Amino acid sequence: MSLIKFADVTIGYEGVNVLSKISFEINSGNYLCIVGENGSGKTTLMKSMLGLISPISGTISFDDGLKQNHIGYLPQQSKLQKDFPASVYEVVLSGCLSKGFSPFYSKLQKKTALENMYKTGISDLKNKCFRELSGGQQQRALLARALCSTEKMLILDEPITGLDPIAAQELYTLIKQLNNNNGITVVMVTHDVNSAINNASHILHLRKDTYFYGSTHTYLHSDIGKGFLITDCPCENCQRNHRGGV
Ligand code: ADP
Repeated sequence: MSLIKFADVTIGYEGVNVLSKISFEINSGNYLCIVGENGSGKTTLMKSMLGLISPISGTISFDDGLKQNHIGYLPQQSKLQKDFPASVYEVVLSGCLSKGFSPFYSKLQKKTALENMYKTGISDLKNKCFRELSGGQQQRALLARALCSTEKMLILDEPITGLDPIAAQELYTLIKQLNNNNGITVVMVTHDVNSAINNASHILHLRKDTYFYGSTHTYLHSDIGKGFLITDCPCENCQRNHRGGV
């Protein structure tokens, strides 16, 4: 089932096109990584998925059950976020506000926050001050917060920036689990192409005047993928072929 479909979409600012005639669709359960050089339009594309900018032409359609304010969004970490003076529980709970503001949190919202803290492995940090957490723990808390606004789709903007390699790997494992075990569709903007290849089902590679969209396997065999990567296709079948010198 298609959750978001881009059909011949052109997006830009003040009459200047950043992306021209892009078509792709994200199906339920996909794990899509968006890669490309700085300035290639990754953030612009993400903003259009979140409904923050409208296309100049073409159509972006959403599945009936997916409202744009029900997409969980993990923005790039800012200094301000890191120093947020609130408990982990309060930060996570605030993710429930995207579904509508009320002066008090409901029992259901509190239960949702606790469940998402459990899913992201931070239940024991509930009463800690957010700014005292490590970078990896902060990202887990912000992921739990993003999960409070969705049961369907997460959009993550360079989630491992600033994390050490171990924390980064742990975060990737967690995101993969949410995708595999909880059926959360994942869209991630990343510069980490190796991890994209290891984890994603699909790749969208943006380049000036062109783009690639397809399965990770097809990407590894595409001209754009081959030109960009120095790795072989990791799938068993291809490994056999590569070993055989094909
Ligand atoms: P990326 O995320 O891949 O680095 P962006 O989507 O941020 O790329 O930017 C793509 C292009 O759009 C760049 O040339 C950038 O200068 C331009 N751009 C980004 N935001 C704006 C804006 N608010 N107004 C005008 N141009 C912008």
